[in-house]
Order: sequence, then C-alpha cells, then structure tokens
Amino acid sequence: MFNENNPILKVKNISKVYAEDKNNIVNALNDVNFEIIKGEAFGLVGESGCGKSTLAQIIMNLIPADKGEILYTKDKTEINILSLKGKKMKALRKEIQFIFQDPYSSINPRKKIGWLIKEPLIIHKIGADDAQREKMVDEMLCSVGLDKNYKNRFPSELSGGQRQRVAIAIALILNPEFVICDEAVSALDVSVQAQILNLLRDMQKKMGLTYLFISHNLNVVSYISDRIAVMYLGEIVETGNSEIIFKNPLHPYTKALFSASVNIEDVMLKGEPPSKSTLIKGCVFASRCGYCSEKCLAEKPVLKETADGRKIACHLYNEH
Ligand code: SF4
Repeated sequence: MFNENNPILKVKNISKVYAEDKNNIVNALNDVNFEIIKGEAFGLVGESGCGKSTLAQIIMNLIPADKGEILYTKDKTEINILSLKGKKMKALRKEIQFIFQDPYSSINPRKKIGWLIKEPLIIHKIGADDAQREKMVDEMLCSVGLDKNYKNRFPSELSGGQRQRVAIAIALILNPEFVICDEAVSALDVSVQAQILNLLRDMQKKMGLTYLFISHNLNVVSYISDRIAVMYLGEIVETGNSEIIFKNPLHPYTKALFSASVNIEDVMLKGEPPSKSTLIKGCVFASRCGYCSEKCLAEKPVLKETADGRKIACHLYNEH
C-alpha cells in the first residue's frame, strides 16, 4: 500500500537524558530508531511517561536531543530537523503540524474561532489579501464539519469535539505534509472519539497527509494506524504492520499490553519498572518479564527483523 522506499521522516538513534536535579537524572529516550513512510498513519503506543511525548517534542525541534538525528524528506532531500534554527525552522513548521490532546490549552480562549484559524495564514504570509484568507478559513471550517458561522464564536462556546475540530482546522490550514497527533482524541467521549478519528482519516485521504499518532489507547491506535511502534521506558520494543502486531503480538511487553485491556494504564505487569535514573545494561523489560534469562540481564537486545517483516527487541526472537 505504501512505498517503503519513500520515508518522510527518519528517527535515528535519538537519546535524551533529563537532569531533574544534580543527583537525579532521567533516561527519557534511549537510542530510538524508526521510519515513517509518506502517506501512512504511524502509531506510537506506550504507557504514560514512556517517552512518547518527549520524542514528539524533539521531532518538532521544541526540545533538543542529546544524540541522534530527525531526518525529514523535503523535495527528495533529507534535512536534519534538529540542526534547523530561526527562519529555516519556521519555514518547516508549515509542513509539520501538531494536534494536542487538549485543544482548550493550546488555543487562545480570548480569540474567536475565525481569527484562530486565520492566524497561521497571517504568520506565514499565505493568501493574497484578507478576503482570500477568510475564504480559506470558510473552506477549512467546512472540511472539518463546522458551519462558517462558527468563525464568530469563542472556544468556550464549543463542545470538546467541536474544539478538537477547530484544532484540526488550525493544524491543517497551512496544508502540511506531516501531522503529529499527540493523544489527539484522549480527552473526548468514545462516540466523539470515533467522529474525530473518521475526520482525521478523511482529511488524510483528501490532503495526502502523513500522521504520527501517539496514544495510550490501543483501540484508537489499531483503528487509525497502518504501522505501529511499541515503546517501553524510552525504547522501541516492537514495530511493524499494525494488523500483524495486533493479531499476534510477540514481544512479552506487547503481549501483556494487548492481552489485558484497551487502556494501557490499566495493564498489570509483574515486578517493578527499573529506575529511570539507572542506565540499563540488559533488556529494559527484564524486571517485568516472565521469560527473563541471564542473557537478558547482561545483554541489551536490539531491534531485529522477523520473517513477517516486523522488528522486535527481544532475545527470544533474536537467536536466528
Ligand atoms: Fe523478556 Fe529477555 Fe525478551 Fe527482554 S529480552 S523481553 S527480558 S525475554
């Protein structure tokens, strides 16, 4: 369906350590690698605090990485986003947009909807004049399922689902290529979630968008994603075709997640997670894994491809 030789984004060897204070460091991301193919929806799943949102912020160049590159392909040329500053980064922000979990905290509650959607056009000097920009706002409102009269309303006058439609309109008005949806439907009721997911899918088809879809809700990720990556404590443990992994998860962590619940936060794992301030020598999941061996404690498993095309970081599957 997608051309694997046409990645739009490569996350290469990204590591990030936070210093909470001088005695306490947090290993947020450890050598994270994956590629997102142009036109696909790529789901990133994991528990709260596993590093998903930190990675999203690094991809947007909002916080620096300690190591690694984020390579974005534009006009067949790879650009390392992390090396961009000033005007070059501003220009790229037109192409890479963000949809947050809580639209109310990401939009100015004192501005009317029409102004909020038009503002990115003004900032990026798009549209010949104000009349043309107003027309673009009307068309975008229509595309996200809102009447143009919503332009004159304030965010507080909208329901949660309507506000998320506005957040989508703000993200898409610049006609981006790549959209990061960070828990974009998590704050909504289940019925509204389905409507917003369908809207995101429709807009993906209509505009040829590529999504990085970050969520802890497995139903949501399975519905929207073509491929997924499962993250545990800042490391990718399994990645590949979404349908294959959801039908037959192989990594012990993925198995535990998918067997128990649609909500990752409800999953009960044995043992305790290791301290995030300790650099783990062996497998990151060892303290919670029923299959843990001496090798798992001594040697970190790397992501290796299996016969069905997925990649797993686990010694159980790395023998051959
Ligand atoms: Fe479990 Fe070992 Fe596989 Fe880690 S490498 S998930 S500890 S079997």
